[in-house]
This record gives sequence, structure tokens and C-alpha cells, in this order.
Amino acid sequence: MGNLDIYTIEDEIAYLQGLGTFKKPKLLMHACCAPCSTYCVDYLYPYFDITLYYYNPNIMPDDEWRKRADEFSKLITKYPEVKILIPDQSTAEFLDLVKGYEKCPEGGERCSICFNHRLLKTAHEATNGYDFFTTTLTVSPHKNAELINEIGRQCGMLAGVKYLDSNFKKKNGYLKSIQLCAELDIYRQTYCGCRL
Ligand code: SF4
Repeated sequence: MGNLDIYTIEDEIAYLQGLGTFKKPKLLMHACCAPCSTYCVDYLYPYFDITLYYYNPNIMPDDEWRKRADEFSKLITKYPEVKILIPDQSTAEFLDLVKGYEKCPEGGERCSICFNHRLLKTAHEATNGYDFFTTTLTVSPHKNAELINEIGRQCGMLAGVKYLDSNFKKKNGYLKSIQLCAELDIYRQTYCGCRL
């Protein structure tokens, strides 16, 4: 991938803080699940008009996908201005994309395909009036933020919308997400998503 301009969540927050008063920019945040969203929303809530985009056709089986989707209702009891968007999605489409990569270990090529698919879909959705898009994926200690951000930037370039780099693991983000899940009684799954 070529080098693309990097613009981070922290850059945007510093810019907004410099303005003093501001209208919150519209942020479409790809949300892999409610647990990872807790800290990201908590951190960004004062600065952005947030819509969470639950597009994860990689999560299987269907019951698990639904269970994770339902947990967002608990999140918005604490952050009522956050909107949740759940588009149509198909496990069959995901399985088709990762055909031949089933045996890759977590963190390998299958995951890059998976990230790219979800972020490209989010980027295209973000062209519907959002200022930026980003993803909650970088809060996980199991996920490579650098790789995710590189893919995010590329997807933003293809769709024509600005991607905000993040590394929500900073500032104890993962630990805080666990604490917020306990506070809001949010179910925390024990596996990433696919069952291959
Ligand atoms: S392990 Fe997670 S990120 Fe990797 S392909 Fe499966 S669902 Fe996607």
C-alpha cells in the first residue's frame, strides 16, 4: 500500500479543543461489538456526533451475531446521543471472501481481508454525510492497530472520505472497556468472530 496522509483522532480532538466551541463533527464508527465500543464512545462522546456501524458478517453463528448486536441497547443508556446503524449483512459473502484462508492463524491474511471488507463497507456508508469514519477494532490487545489504520486509510481513499487513525489501546483503553462493561452489564464474548 502507498503512503497516505495520516490524520488521527487525537489531531481532530486537539483541533476541536483549540476552537473552544464547536459543532460536533459527524463520525461513523465501525463497531465490532458493544464491549469494544464502550471505551471508544466514552472517549469520543464529548467531541463527536457518533453513529456506530455494526457491520460484521464475520461473526458466527447467527445467534452470536444477534446476541452481540442486542448489547448496544445497554450502551446507549449511558450515551443516549449515540446512534446505532445495522445494515444488511451476509455470512455467506464473508465466507466467500476468505475462501482458501480458513487455516490462517488469527492475525494473519484472513484477518486483513476481514478488516478490509468491514472498513470498506463503512467507508462507503460514511460518504452519506459523515465528516469522518474510524473503527473500534484498535482497542483490542489482539489487534494490530498499525495494520488496521493502514487499511482504514486505504478504504477512505477509495471511497473519498477521511479515515481517522486510532489506537484505542492507549490510555488504558482496553482496561477501561472492561470496567464499563461491568458497569453496564454488557456481555463480553470470548472469541473474535469467525468459527473456521
Ligand atoms: S479472527 Fe476475527 S478478524 Fe480474523 S477473520 Fe476471524 S473474525 Fe475476522
